[in-house]
Amino acid sequence: MVGLAQRFDARVTLTNLTTGKGPVEAGSLSMVATLNAQQGHRLRVGASGPEAAEALAALGALADRGFDDLPASAPPTAVVGKSGSGLDVAVGAAILADQEVDLSNYQAGDVDAERQRAHDARAVAEAQLTALRDETARTVGVAEASIFDAQLALLGDVLVLDAVFRAITQGADKSAPEAWKAALDAVAASFEALDDPYQRERAQDVRSVRDRVLRALVGRDETAAAGPELAAGGSGAGGSGPAVGGVLVVRELDAATAAGVDAERIAGIAVRAAGTTGHGVIVARSRGIPVITGIGDVEVPTGALVGFDARAHEFVVEPADGGERLRAVVRERAGEREAALAEAERPAVTVDGRTIAVLANVGSVQDALDARGADGSGLVRTEVLFGERRVAPTVEEQVEAFRAIAAALGGKPITIRTWDIGGDKPLAFLAQEREANPFLGERGIRVFRRRPELLRDQLTAICRVAVETPVHVMFPMVTTAEEVAWALEELAAIGRPAELKVGIMVEVPAAALRISTLAAGLDFVSIGTNDLTQYTTASDRGNSAVAGLADGLDPAVLQLIDCVVREVPPGVEVAVCGDLASDPDAAVLLAGLGVHELSAVGPQVPTVKARLRRTDLTQVAASKALTMPSAAAVRQWLQEIQA
Ligand code: PEP
Ligand code: MG
Repeated sequence: MVGLAQRFDARVTLTNLTTGKGPVEAGSLSMVATLNAQQGHRLRVGASGPEAAEALAALGALADRGFDDLPASAPPTAVVGKSGSGLDVAVGAAILADQEVDLSNYQAGDVDAERQRAHDARAVAEAQLTALRDETARTVGVAEASIFDAQLALLGDVLVLDAVFRAITQGADKSAPEAWKAALDAVAASFEALDDPYQRERAQDVRSVRDRVLRALVGRDETAAAGPELAAGGSGAGGSGPAVGGVLVVRELDAATAAGVDAERIAGIAVRAAGTTGHGVIVARSRGIPVITGIGDVEVPTGALVGFDARAHEFVVEPADGGERLRAVVRERAGEREAALAEAERPAVTVDGRTIAVLANVGSVQDALDARGADGSGLVRTEVLFGERRVAPTVEEQVEAFRAIAAALGGKPITIRTWDIGGDKPLAFLAQEREANPFLGERGIRVFRRRPELLRDQLTAICRVAVETPVHVMFPMVTTAEEVAWALEELAAIGRPAELKVGIMVEVPAAALRISTLAAGLDFVSIGTNDLTQYTTASDRGNSAVAGLADGLDPAVLQLIDCVVREVPPGVEVAVCGDLASDPDAAVLLAGLGVHELSAVGPQVPTVKARLRRTDLTQVAASKALTMPSAAAVRQWLQEIQA
């Protein structure tokens, strides 16, 4: 809308009638942000000047088209690009995306020179973004390319430009980089102050534009900067892409970066922060991209040869053998993986004859297509499936998406989780108020108690698909029996078909502790170890400072899992769909504790199955782990018994 408003010889304004904020310039992204406009608010467009009528007509038409949100026919996919190697080891040249642009060697000129440089850097950034947008539109899709339109709109924002040039010219005597940085940091701060978490996250886009302009100012090579040019389909504004098979080094891995990197060019991702259950890591792993977390502050020069083996938790820089040993590990693991893939379709029957169902967690149709050997999906993350939408999907669109996922899995059972939002999962079409402790606030099922409409649409779609193909539905973040009763009533009101199996996620310690009463009347429960670990250890899963504490193998977490298996009412199945199930060693332990169904990230399914087939569960004294002193002790013991 901002981009469109900029195209007319008119002064176009926007007012948020719901909150009374405005009017502000519609052609200024930074001003529009201050309206704090949310889904359902009423906005008024005003225009004056020579092309006022044309501007109003164009903006009205845009609104009528639903602001060009993803068309209903677009395949529901949140993740673009090819899949990675599916291994947990990688070697390649380091591509750094973890540093602020270094301005320390910048030599400022006089005011005229700085104005010219500020201007030239903007032109360079604009040309790069235009190239990226066109390339992304051509190779990925128009909707995905629109992120670059928003970034271009920021470069054309009159208020930003005014702030930049005023800072250089009027006494403040700032250099061009200082002026650009200050102006765009201010815009980022205004996004960060918004109520809605989705809009707050857009500060990331502003910082991306800032860094692009700053790199242009210091003459830094775009291909070494590992920005959005790593996006699938993006060719890099300078023409030559990043090093083939490079290892991307990032401070933290956000979901957008993980979804956007081109898995054909990036051999693996090394994350400085610890923690394996953040959504960025989950997305990268579900794409089969090797990831190591917690490498810390080790110095990594751009282009240096680096390698890692996530299984052994080893990260090396410029190894003396030129990376030969790790390359041998890559070959060995690739061989292991080939063998696992060859047998992927066979059931996972342990040496002592127990069959463990191994399913896949999916967030897109592509994930489902990539899930070789999966016995279905134990977790369809609907908030990821429709995460790109800015307008809620209709019942029909959801029906189509669920059908497509079931078909991609050959009609095997799929477990659809109802919208799981809140905490670190904002959804563009469901505005949420700012909360002091969002992980302890309105999250998962709690969000819908006050406003059930979106949930009802989703349940309607689920019920419709359930009469065509095996479908289970589960509710996230359940704490009390009263919530379960409410969810069942909602389903009954919609007309729950007899075929539909109903369950809840066990992610809250209170739910695990009272499972015997909570799960009465349900068909299954599925343990979400990512959140169960976060709440048991009181360690925010997205906070790298406490990531060492948030380990799913912590015996305290294992005790809760054991409690669920032992105390669940008879006939209620127990599954695990948290990421612990993707770790082959942990999968053995979970099976040993009596879990019959695991749902892992797609690329891990064949490996988990292969490991279970080699295991004699009568030899795994799983209950020993419950009283061990630490997660590290459990991990070491698991490795010893596999050896
Ligand atoms: C979990 O919490 O373990 C889980 C599977 O849900 P999510 O990671 O999507 O929160
Ligand atoms: Mg969860």
